[in-house]
Amino acid sequence: AKMPAATDLYQIDSLLSEEELLVRDTVRRFVAERVKPQIAEHFEAGTFPQELVPEMAELGLLGMHLEGYGCAGMSAVCYGLACQELEAGDSGLRSFVSVQGSLAMYPISAFGSEEQKQRWLPGMARGEIIGCFGLTEPDYGSDAAHLTTSARRDGDVYILNGTKLWITNGSIAHVAIVWARAEDGVRGFLVERDTPGFTTSTISHKLSLRASVTSELHFADCRVPVANLLPNVRGMRGPLSCLNEARYGIAWGVNGAARTCYETALTYARERLQFQRPIASFQLVQQKLVVMVTELVKAELLALQLGRLKDSGRLHPVQISLAKRNNVREALQTAREARNILGANGITLEYPISRHMNNLESVFTYEGTDDIHTLIIGQAITGENAFA
Ligand code: FAD
Repeated sequence: AKMPAATDLYQIDSLLSEEELLVRDTVRRFVAERVKPQIAEHFEAGTFPQELVPEMAELGLLGMHLEGYGCAGMSAVCYGLACQELEAGDSGLRSFVSVQGSLAMYPISAFGSEEQKQRWLPGMARGEIIGCFGLTEPDYGSDAAHLTTSARRDGDVYILNGTKLWITNGSIAHVAIVWARAEDGVRGFLVERDTPGFTTSTISHKLSLRASVTSELHFADCRVPVANLLPNVRGMRGPLSCLNEARYGIAWGVNGAARTCYETALTYARERLQFQRPIASFQLVQQKLVVMVTELVKAELLALQLGRLKDSGRLHPVQISLAKRNNVREALQTAREARNILGANGITLEYPISRHMNNLESVFTYEGTDDIHTLIIGQAITGENAFA
């Protein structure tokens, strides 16, 4: 057999269908043409490239794996491949798509009334309505089940009070999916931008996910119509099932970031001369590249099997935790080693490495920290809860 390409050493492409390859290549081209040329500037300026939202909508990337109401209804594997290609550009873009599709549209699709679905989903799929997902609070991150934002019923409204922190898309969202404690447990609310008592502020001075909007949401006697309550879910199952959708996409997405770092380091190592030889000819550099490509192949296979399990309706959340934990960890390690191989050049925005490395620090922490996924898997295999 002939030597496989260094970029697909394990011939994983041969495990993908024509349609899957088409989706992958279409999003890859979009990222090459529309994202890569300008993303470093956005990162430096701390701005989200909002002008790309209609283009991502046009490609069917918003609510891509949801059925009906203007959504593309693609398979989980296609959705995963799209996340992978977007994150090969920047984790901020993939975060936008994860939040819009998995954290904002998914709960409406899964737990909303017929009226809510018709009112929100088509506009969200077109990118005209942006959504966000408010679960985390200043005092409750990993321990989200103890959230304190309150929702008190008063006739035909709920009165919300509290603060949500670290909310992606918060200040650009037209609608916030907010998880608050009502009399009957944690409930989800669709809070519209102009609702009196609802304000947002943007978090600045981030050194990670700079090309993504992160915000604080405030609710001060914010009166939300009962019609905006998500009727079909109660308790932490609501937010947790959304997180499972988003974590699924992350397990794929970070492989894109890792691939960009690996390919950049490989190309650089073959061109950069020191001691009159390409640095790729040194054993220590080769070893780093070999670890990177090995971990990338393993992570891609984990993601693909995760997708096949999801598409066949056999997916268990512990499998998502395993892939999210492993793939983010290894992507971060790959970014750090790539930074090393690029030497001083590795610290600049001229190359994508440091940008990805810094982004991946957020991805390591959000959607269940690395530690939390360790505890989820630990509990699943031992039967012992080590959380509290
Ligand atoms: P903490 O929970 O305080 O954790 C701090 C440290 O303690 C971590 O290392 C953690 O692993 C460890 N730890 C906590 N509990 C345990 C335990 N039982 N055992 C061992 N170790 C433990 N949230 C949203 O709701 N919506 C969003 O859109 C959103 N977007 C985000 C975007 C960005 C850029 C970032 C950085 C965060 C975002 N988040 C969002 C919040 C994110 O989900 C939280 O940061 C995450 O859940 C961790 O919470 P925390 O930061 O409060 O850390």
